[in-house]
Amino acid sequence: MQYQSTRNPNTVVSSSEAILRGLAPDGGLFVPQEFPKADLQAWRSLSYPELAQQVLAGFLTNYDPEFLRGAAQTTYGAAFGGKAGHLEQVRDGLYALELWHGPTCAFKDYALQLMPKLLVQAKKNLGRGETTRILVATSGDTGKAALAGYAGLEGIEIAVFYPNAGTSEIQRLQMATQQGDNVAVYAVNGNFDDAQTGVKRVFGDASVASELEKRNIRLSSANSINWGRLVPQIVYYFYSYFRLVEQGGVAWGQPVDFCVPTGNFGDILAGYYAKRMGLPVGRLVCASNRNNVLTDFIRTGTYDARRTFYKTTSPSMDILVSSNLERLLYHVSGDAGKVAGWMRELSVNGKYTVDEATLTAIQESFACGCADDGEGAAEIHARFAQDHYLCDPHTAVAFCVAEASRSAAPMVVLSTASPFKFPRDVLAALGGEVPAGDFAAMAALTAATGWQAPESLRMLDRMPVRFDTVIEPAGIRDAALR
Ligand SMILES: *Cc1c(COP(=O)(O)O)cnc(C)c1O
Repeated sequence: MQYQSTRNPNTVVSSSEAILRGLAPDGGLFVPQEFPKADLQAWRSLSYPELAQQVLAGFLTNYDPEFLRGAAQTTYGAAFGGKAGHLEQVRDGLYALELWHGPTCAFKDYALQLMPKLLVQAKKNLGRGETTRILVATSGDTGKAALAGYAGLEGIEIAVFYPNAGTSEIQRLQMATQQGDNVAVYAVNGNFDDAQTGVKRVFGDASVASELEKRNIRLSSANSINWGRLVPQIVYYFYSYFRLVEQGGVAWGQPVDFCVPTGNFGDILAGYYAKRMGLPVGRLVCASNRNNVLTDFIRTGTYDARRTFYKTTSPSMDILVSSNLERLLYHVSGDAGKVAGWMRELSVNGKYTVDEATLTAIQESFACGCADDGEGAAEIHARFAQDHYLCDPHTAVAFCVAEASRSAAPMVVLSTASPFKFPRDVLAALGGEVPAGDFAAMAALTAATGWQAPESLRMLDRMPVRFDTVIEPAGIRDAALR
């Protein structure tokens, strides 16, 4: 199977190239030219790693199937504690797909534990011998998930830049205690935008590229527009459907709705791919926080990024330009010329409006809704009080929207982070006294709910801190060259 750019059907590459390059040269994103057909009957009894192998093999056709089998086994076996794709019933007809049983307790592990292996193999497939240096600007979650995924891999180095004092104590310690010889972590004096702008500048700096080329190093990014980050996320839609059938939550072949807390539109788009492959998906409900640009778009067809940016208690959804939406626009319109035009309008005017047929096609598969911090906190409280189910602020947004979007079909909410990654906000939502430190808050949350914090978070205050360097934004270039 080949991949093409969303902005030009003549830019065609293999799966290895799509993963190695990340972005197409015309600025578009790589999309598969067809959708492999799911074999639902054969897949329903597979383990998570086996199912992952099947889905990956359908899309990554120029990878050795034996390699994919091994990669899926080592990624989704023990590292997820046997709980990859774990589905929990919350109440009648309402389920949580818990995607936070991986090493860093957020759903990004599904992609970032696998994608580094795909990248190393892509280099082998293409006969590339240089060292790849990954630069990541992070507001918190992505940095740790990327460090954990790339640590210790041959031919790869990774440097992560986060805003000094801009993350939670737990998020900072998750990064500062990262093991591995090929990792580096920097706190940047400034906010997330300063870190991101600094990293983007380094990517665009030809003098950095030529300096590194002398040392046989090439820069790359780990961000969520890479096809290698999207494809692993398709697997858990299938897996959760099969578990739901097993648990008697849905009859075989009948549709299920999914509600997804959305930022960059990657996670929910994977659900659309699962649907196109043949999974009985009813509606994909796109849940946004107060930064509700996607709610407006799905309702009206106008994407308008010219609006106030709000910092919320669900920071991984604080996004005004959802990059992966471009892929959906291509799949529903089938017209790379149109997509290129809309993206040009977005960069020049900050907005675009799609045609009626495109909007109708989107609304056939997608519903939407939004909830602010107050509604999210009330939802955390209500789910615990009524169902004894504890969720984090991102997942709470989705539970809120799910309730308002129920159809006759069962509803699966994608639960994207452990509540113990945000112990202070969750505790406050439950009405508890919030202690000063994150670790005290974790303990208080356990005392209040009986839920145990994941060991990988509890042990952080006993881990040696390896990285405490603070740099100015102007120092990102030097750090990237080190
Ligand atoms: C990244 C993230 C999201 C948003 O996922 P997208 O694929 O960017 O839409 C939601 N919740 C959590 C906890 C995240 O880390």
